[in-house]
Amino acid sequence: MKNIIIFGAPGSGKGTQSDLLVEKYAFRHISTGDVLRAEIKNDTQLGRTAKSYIDKGQLIPDSLMISILAATYDSLLPCEGVIFDGFPRTIPQAEALQDMLSQRGTNVGVVLELQVSDDLLTERLLLRGKTSGRADDNAETIQARLAVYHNQTAPLAAWYDERGLLVRVNGVGSLEDINAALCAEINHLG
Ligand code: AMP
Repeated sequence: MKNIIIFGAPGSGKGTQSDLLVEKYAFRHISTGDVLRAEIKNDTQLGRTAKSYIDKGQLIPDSLMISILAATYDSLLPCEGVIFDGFPRTIPQAEALQDMLSQRGTNVGVVLELQVSDDLLTERLLLRGKTSGRADDNAETIQARLAVYHNQTAPLAAWYDERGLLVRVNGVGSLEDINAALCAEINHLG
């Protein structure tokens, strides 16, 4: 069982690269953003709560996010591997993920960080906003999301680095080259 975290800022290419990895390996993919957007679309209670945070570019509270993640993860088992895209985003989420996986007799195999400059992230997200239909891909919310990323999520890179799990990958270049760099790391997992 491989548990692979694709880590990076909004617009760093986590979703795109996760889709390519799922095509190549027999892995499942958890995008917490997609899970929340599906709840919003279905107008559930959870969706209404999530929307109030997402529209402001803020994070959904950890306790809620952790329970959603555990339920989603269990729904995908058994499988050969899971790609986590957009989770964890805080240190409490990372701690909860370690606990959740160890309770299931497994652990995080690698954290692949896609590195992209803020200027390029903003450019990509504004471009994506033209077609994504995502309410949070607008200039104001993008700035809020990047600030949240730097304050609350980026410290996780050092946290995983201390645990020997972080691999930094250049997130700028062709999709194929970036994907090849990610695959090389995944293949190391054996
Ligand atoms: P994403 O599609 O990953 O960019 O996520 C879109 C939005 O969903 C984020 O800006 C957050 O408001 C929310 N979200 C997604 N994943 C998480 C998470 N792990 N923790 C808290 N909020 C999240």
